[in-house]
Amino acid sequence: MGKLEAFPQVIGEYRFECTRCGNCCTGDQRVWLNPGDLKRMAVHLGYDHTEELFRRKLVVLEQGENGAWRPRILFKHYKKLRFCPFLENSLGEDGAVTGLCRLHPLHKPLICSLAPLGRRWDAETEKSEWIFVKPAPDCPGVNSKKVQLLRETLERHDREIEEENLFFAKLQHLLGNKSKQPAFRELYFFKTGLREESPG
Ligand code: SF4
Ligand code: SF4
Repeated sequence: MGKLEAFPQVIGEYRFECTRCGNCCTGDQRVWLNPGDLKRMAVHLGYDHTEELFRRKLVVLEQGENGAWRPRILFKHYKKLRFCPFLENSLGEDGAVTGLCRLHPLHKPLICSLAPLGRRWDAETEKSEWIFVKPAPDCPGVNSKKVQLLRETLERHDREIEEENLFFAKLQHLLGNKSKQPAFRELYFFKTGLREESPG
């Protein structure tokens, strides 16, 4: 996510309204995932194990700037276009292209659901500061006058945020132990609880 210190902190409220243009689901965006995201995504696709997401090249493991190995969505390439495999475009009556997320709303990654809120995580206190991160360089939603209450946005996702807090604490522990990639992988490869089906 780049240099998080550069982003303004959100306290109380922020102005934003998504127009569903889909710009943040294309290009050079990096959609980082946590284990809860992997589970929701795999369940949505009918997979009994998260490994299937990696095997089908929907997700890839990558080492971030801080050294932690984390999964992210692997965007597809078509000519010069790059786009999320879960993005579906539709054409409205006004001729405008709308970007719809196939995982919305129940199986969408937390980072996408919270956008434009991002987090500055303090490993010592295990607390977050919420920051405003423009979802895409040309995101039209940031010009909105619509006021969003930080508390309400966080309440809508409190369970997923709590899960991610635990995940961040585990990552910090692994980093502190100078763990290698296999130790990180153990966080991301697990059964989803679904019976084995033949995914489409
Ligand atoms: S770029 Fe902004 S307005 Fe467009 S879909 Fe993403 S968040 Fe919504
Ligand atoms: S998961 Fe959905 S919201 Fe997130 S980048 Fe992909 S299409 Fe966009």
